[in-house]
Amino acid sequence: MACILLFVTLTRYNLNTLGQQRAKAHLCRLYHSGRVPHALLFLGQTGWGTLALALGFAQWLQCETDAALKDADGPCGLCKACRKAAQWSHPDIHFSYPTVGANALSANFAKEWREALTGNPWLDANTWLQRLGAENKQGNITKEECNAIIRKLSLKIFEGRYKILLMWLPEYLGKEGNRLLKLIEEPPEQTIFLLVAENADLILPTILSRCQLVKTDPLSDEEITEALQRHRHLEAGRARQIAFLSAGDFNQALQLADNPENDDAALLLDWFRKCWRGNGVELVRWTEHFAKLGRENQKQFLHYGLHFLRELLALVVTKHAAPRLRPDELSTAQNMAGVLNFDKIARMAAMLNENVYFIERNANPKILFLDTSIQINRILKGGGPNP
Ligand SMILES: [Zn+2]
Repeated sequence: MACILLFVTLTRYNLNTLGQQRAKAHLCRLYHSGRVPHALLFLGQTGWGTLALALGFAQWLQCETDAALKDADGPCGLCKACRKAAQWSHPDIHFSYPTVGANALSANFAKEWREALTGNPWLDANTWLQRLGAENKQGNITKEECNAIIRKLSLKIFEGRYKILLMWLPEYLGKEGNRLLKLIEEPPEQTIFLLVAENADLILPTILSRCQLVKTDPLSDEEITEALQRHRHLEAGRARQIAFLSAGDFNQALQLADNPENDDAALLLDWFRKCWRGNGVELVRWTEHFAKLGRENQKQFLHYGLHFLRELLALVVTKHAAPRLRPDELSTAQNMAGVLNFDKIARMAAMLNENVYFIERNANPKILFLDTSIQINRILKGGGPNP
């Protein structure tokens, strides 16, 4: 993927990530109260800018400029501490994140981590783990990493105002998180934990209860449209279309913007027509073509499919034309609305959702999509006109 110009690099007096006004206001209040909790849990999709926001806050905590301490709403972006933090190399900001391999330490992947953040701080966990060569292996935050954190945080501060541990995706700690409980509850002086999570249900409740929550929100269509125009120089119509599809997730938007050759809408409509006809030879050909697209494109296609089904559902329920579909999509959706009800659409959406999960785990796309095609054929054939 092309290198993305970093707009997480913080400019003067602003936590300059995209959107997140509510979370930013919360952080400003915390900062200026002079009582920053020693454990904060940033909760929301990384694609919404949750990690970027936590990185910005870590920089602000270390910023040395006096002005930033009084009435600013973010770090100065100019002092030595800010410059180091913006390059992910401040000696008092420690990072921890999922890695692959038994006994692995985050520090072993520091170079990949910096490259990933420089390229795209909205990245998803799967992209990160693939970058480390995970293939079929599960990512985790190991027992050894927990012990390394305990050691690092027992050292004295090098040069910063705080000692910060920023952990991305504590969901990957599993039960090893128990090793950090005491440290999170009673950290050494001037030590702050910034945990950045997507799914609170996968975090040990004992960790969760020790953190103050900073919730982030999906980005608005306007924020994504504007950012795509500014940073990808897309024309307004295309930027808006991508914003619609990406449902608040800027990582998703960047994937769509960077792969303009993929016309998922045309591919989806073609697939649904073939599913409707149920011609075995045709469906096998389609899945063979689809299998060659590669995993990321397949996932993107599935996300597009889910978007389409959401709009279709709105059409079925409200009987009004859904605003987020192009004319060709809308006409197919109107035909499909005649043969599908809420239950059938929900079943199709559940299937596509499951397929995202299977594709991430290297399922054979030919078998998976042939099976899905047959099931969709059965769902569609409840009677009614052609889609
Ligand atoms: Zn500064």
